[in-house]
Amino acid sequence: MSDKIVRAIACEGTVKAVAISGKTLVERARRIHRTLPVATAALGRCLLAASMMGSELKHPRGSLTLRVQGSGPLGIITAVSDAKGRVRGYLQNPAVDIPRKSPGKLDVGTAVGLPGRLTVVRDLCMKEPYTGSVALISGEIGEDIAAYFVQSEQTPAACALGVLVGTDQAVTAAGGYLLTLLPGATEETAVRLEDSVRAFGPVSKKLAEGMSAEEILLTVLNGLDPEILSSDPVSYHCPCSRVRVRRAIESLGRAELSDMIREQGEAEVTCQFCDRVYRFTREELESMREGLKEERRKDRE
Ligand SMILES: [Zn+2]
Repeated sequence: MSDKIVRAIACEGTVKAVAISGKTLVERARRIHRTLPVATAALGRCLLAASMMGSELKHPRGSLTLRVQGSGPLGIITAVSDAKGRVRGYLQNPAVDIPRKSPGKLDVGTAVGLPGRLTVVRDLCMKEPYTGSVALISGEIGEDIAAYFVQSEQTPAACALGVLVGTDQAVTAAGGYLLTLLPGATEETAVRLEDSVRAFGPVSKKLAEGMSAEEILLTVLNGLDPEILSSDPVSYHCPCSRVRVRRAIESLGRAELSDMIREQGEAEVTCQFCDRVYRFTREELESMREGLKEERRKDRE
């Protein structure tokens, strides 16, 4: 089953819903970062949430960054999505391992650790990105995302995220949903939605049963007149390229470049999101430095 993001509305357009199935993208993240199970689950949940939130961005070239900074052993977790929900991410300490809460239940909350903060940066290609930040309430990510919507965007929301890991540490299932109440939703709708979420139960159980993103939405919105709007593929995607890395090195400036040439002779840059390695020879670095000199001269003219 390929990864999908599915969007729907319910309750006469007053509830916005999105769900994701993301086993392949979370497994890709696990392989890139060589995460142990609790780190796989924490990073995976962040990737799933960022993807769902990113897919709602209005600007086609916009991006959304989700950062979870707890005080537990995992350190900072970062996930970035484009407007299509294609995500990438990394975390500080991928090799963290802590005891399970119960058999099969990874203790993400403890590994993330309280106190901490969840920060969302929406870049809509305007002058300033929009940033919102809230204190973590559990470190389990799903609840923290819902709290973010309530506190930072004054939007009642429900969010559930799940990542299941097999005995060989590979991801066996991953997915979740995000429901938000739009302006105009009545108190009655809010109550009905709460009841539905409660009746749906833990999303990890539904994932283990093999439920797809569409089935998750139709089940959690059962009785609320859901209408599926779209279903699109998503993936783990890093837009890094040699050109971008080159630009980043050039942005260090002439003095830094000179130091690099003198001290290392060449440059090796590893992308933190996808582990791709970019190498630049001494000749390339020197020509970059020459290029900067040219530009400076042009600026003066
Ligand atoms: Zn990359």
